[in-house]
Amino acid sequence: MTDAHPTALEIEGAIRNVPDFPKAGIQFKDITPVLADARLFSGAIDLLADDFKPGSVDAVVGIDARGFIFAAPMAIELGAGFVPVRKPGKLPFDRFSFRYDLEYGTDTLEMHEDSIIKNQRVLIVDDLLATGGTAAATVNLVRQLGGEIIGVAFLVELLALKGRDQLKGCEVEALIQY
Ligand code: AMP
Repeated sequence: MTDAHPTALEIEGAIRNVPDFPKAGIQFKDITPVLADARLFSGAIDLLADDFKPGSVDAVVGIDARGFIFAAPMAIELGAGFVPVRKPGKLPFDRFSFRYDLEYGTDTLEMHEDSIIKNQRVLIVDDLLATGGTAAATVNLVRQLGGEIIGVAFLVELLALKGRDQLKGCEVEALIQY
């Protein structure tokens, strides 16, 4: 093992593909081997944060739950606060909610109504961009709260699902693309 900064290719090499999880037909990208390797994990945070200048972001918004793992250290690296977007029933204070469509049914995401101050510069982070529904719902919530979205960052993007199309008008960054 070398001490040099890992490349995106090296990080990609540690991501495990698990077929048919959580249901038939899904190729699940398991990032836990990246997290378990100190060099790959901190390298992934550095590479993701490198696209944004320290001082250019006021709040990093992490999406429940794997988004938290990347958003929190990025917030520290960028000198920004961390704000969670959560599944329903988790946030204790007054909330804004956004319901969005899934392939079968709907889902809802929530943010505390005071978690973003108007015109704050916001970076949204999640582990993976698939269809884009989750990230688009988060964009909607941040905008309802008056935040200015300066970027949406992912460790992984599944290109075939065209999630970027749901994020028109946002700067989208993905370290690894399949
Ligand atoms: P989507 O709203 O379709 O873009 O789905 C994104 C969310 O679902 C992210 O929070 C991911 O953690 C999770 N997700 C969707 N597809 C996968 C996949 N193939 N492997 C791992 N996580 C996934």
